[in-house]
Amino acid sequence: MKLSRVGIVGAGQLGRMLALAAYPLGIRCLFLDRSADAPGAQVAPILVGDLEDPARLAELAAASQVVTFDWENISESALAPLETLTQIRPPRAALQVSQDRILEKALFSKLKIPVAAHVPIDCKEDLIRAARKLGIPGVLKTRRMGYDGKGQRVLHDAAQIDAAWSAIGGPGLIYEKFQEFSREVSLVGARSSTGDMVFYPLSANTHGGGILHYSIAPYANPKLERTAQTYLKRVMNALDYVGVLTVEFFVVGNRLIANEMAPRVHNSGHWTIEGCVTSQFENHMRAICDLPLGSTRALGHTAMINFLGAMPSRERLLAVDGLAFHDYGKQPRPGRKLGHCTILKSRAKDRNLALADALKSIHWT
Ligand code: AMP
Repeated sequence: MKLSRVGIVGAGQLGRMLALAAYPLGIRCLFLDRSADAPGAQVAPILVGDLEDPARLAELAAASQVVTFDWENISESALAPLETLTQIRPPRAALQVSQDRILEKALFSKLKIPVAAHVPIDCKEDLIRAARKLGIPGVLKTRRMGYDGKGQRVLHDAAQIDAAWSAIGGPGLIYEKFQEFSREVSLVGARSSTGDMVFYPLSANTHGGGILHYSIAPYANPKLERTAQTYLKRVMNALDYVGVLTVEFFVVGNRLIANEMAPRVHNSGHWTIEGCVTSQFENHMRAICDLPLGSTRALGHTAMINFLGAMPSRERLLAVDGLAFHDYGKQPRPGRKLGHCTILKSRAKDRNLALADALKSIHWT
């Protein structure tokens, strides 16, 4: 069957970029989102309702041959009834694992993918014991619903346990040993329903306050890239995955330590829109609609910079040669992802100069 109607749960910027990539392929999208003003609504029709509202989800599923999501925190149980109406891609099992840091680390460990030493935490005494066992520094995180550094506290000293506990304490946490990494990298890949896989070049990511500030790609390190691909392949095959999947890693010495996975297109892969033959968004659509996967070959050297909290001057940035500008059309709010830009150059040196120049006109708030 030719798959050409896709329902997308969540109409944020990821949904918008998915829809923009879908249309040239002859694929029509329909969103479900709480807000009629969500970024996706600028480019495709939208059903307005709660993302877990059974009636709205059923309506979305009835109008779609495949349902996918730009919001990976949707509960598995909300999606389950849709499986009698349509296909859900990526599979629900991937959502379930990625929504809980303990399950995620358990899957990585089962697949022999290294992770940071960690302990589940349900009360303050657990944290005191964990800090003693794993040592300090460490990171206390919520197991579920944490993203972009939300729901996390770094402990540098045992005296900070009380404050960390007052800030985010409660059942359902995890304490991880702090990783003294030299770099953070991520690998984005796509898998088709027939098991074909493609991988993008590695991205090197710079975060501030737990949120991505900018990425450069390709991050040329063939050995790390091979290792990352081996790990991603294991995860995708284990989950019988269909669509785009991202794993974020810490580079510690010459090893990769998996931090987390995202069962969707990823912020560190936005550079692929201008920087690769086929973007991560297009490959996600191709994968979930049973179309052949496209080439992930990089077209040059790119930098992607997030706009957080406030939009920079469009005029100033568009004057940079080789820069593409993306405004998601969202209301400014501190820390909110409002847009990004990608700089594409044929030489890494020129990319680095242009990145340094562009960073002067971007302020993260
Ligand atoms: P996460 O929400 O797990 O992706 O964490 C957000 C950011 O916090 C990461 O990209 C790292 O910069 C930092 N971080 C998280 N966990 C650790 C850790 N165990 N050791 C060192 N840094 C971490």
